[in-house]
Amino acid sequence: MHNYIFSHHSSFREIFKQEIIDQETNDTLRLLATITDTSVNEIYIFDTDTLYFLYVNKSAEANLGYSLDEMKYFTPVDIYTKISLNSFKNLLKPLYSSDNKFIKLQTRLQRKNFSFYNVQIIIKKILLPEREYFVAIITDITEQIIIQKQLKSLATRDCLTGTYNRHKANQIIDEEIIRQNRYNGTFTLMMFDIDYFKLVNDTYGHNIGDSVLQELSKLILKNKRQSDKFARWGGEEFIMVLPETTSKDSLIFAKKIRKIIADHSFEKVAQITVSIGICVFQENDTKEKLLQKVDEALYEAKNKGRNRVILKKR
Ligand code: GH3
Ligand code: MG
Ligand code: MG
Repeated sequence: MHNYIFSHHSSFREIFKQEIIDQETNDTLRLLATITDTSVNEIYIFDTDTLYFLYVNKSAEANLGYSLDEMKYFTPVDIYTKISLNSFKNLLKPLYSSDNKFIKLQTRLQRKNFSFYNVQIIIKKILLPEREYFVAIITDITEQIIIQKQLKSLATRDCLTGTYNRHKANQIIDEEIIRQNRYNGTFTLMMFDIDYFKLVNDTYGHNIGDSVLQELSKLILKNKRQSDKFARWGGEEFIMVLPETTSKDSLIFAKKIRKIIADHSFEKVAQITVSIGICVFQENDTKEKLLQKVDEALYEAKNKGRNRVILKKR
């Protein structure tokens, strides 16, 4: 038992007290323990047979809220709660047969206070002359994930209205074209522009203009289907992608949206109207062609007196 660096009942920190270890080993261990306990990464050492934790470093104790003593009666699935013990054993299987392999995964761990945090885990088997151990090195990636989400939102969302931005809209149209070409389906592109919006700004000021754009976006989000994609194309111009929608259905939808906006009482400004252009994807249409068609439809709606819907056939 004493030859084991981590026996079940002697911790890394206690081990220095054991006289059985000679000076050289003691120094090495002391060095190792210092490094391990100063590591920002969480480090867990557990038994290859029972999977009981033999050692966890101070970072692990601090983040989880458990002490090393409490952890000794745990296996990894007590904190990696998403997985069953059997599944975890299956996951480890490749490590038993190889000293070079390691497992890398992203998941969540559960703290003593039941909260979760996102982690990246690397598990490896280490083989010492007397015995083998599993070592898990864990990086808390909670902040990284928050930043990733913020970056993604910055890249895809319009900051005034929170709807998708033009960049994302372009992506959605590209994807929809690929999808419909594969399945021989169709979809509708709908573009609308607020009528005489310059007058709103001139009369009520830019801030009120901004809140009209926000209120209008909310109104659309409330009235669209979940599969319909809605984006701010620029200024007071918006675009919608309606999957699996025929020209008849898209006309009905566009007319409904036109009426909802015209009937809505916007704060301070009261009534505003929109002109809407729609076109239906046809085989071999490129994005450029679709955008040209929908733009022409919108232009026609403006020219014919605004506050109306025009469908561009081809
Ligand atoms: P039309 O019926 O022909 O579309 O007339 P319009 O006045 O709506 O069109 P025009 O292109 O002349 O003016 C668009 C206005 O939209 C001018 C611009 O200041 C305003 N606008 C564009 N983006 C924003 C924005 O983010 N906030 C505010 N408040 N106004 C904006
Ligand atoms: Mg306008
Ligand atoms: Mg415009």
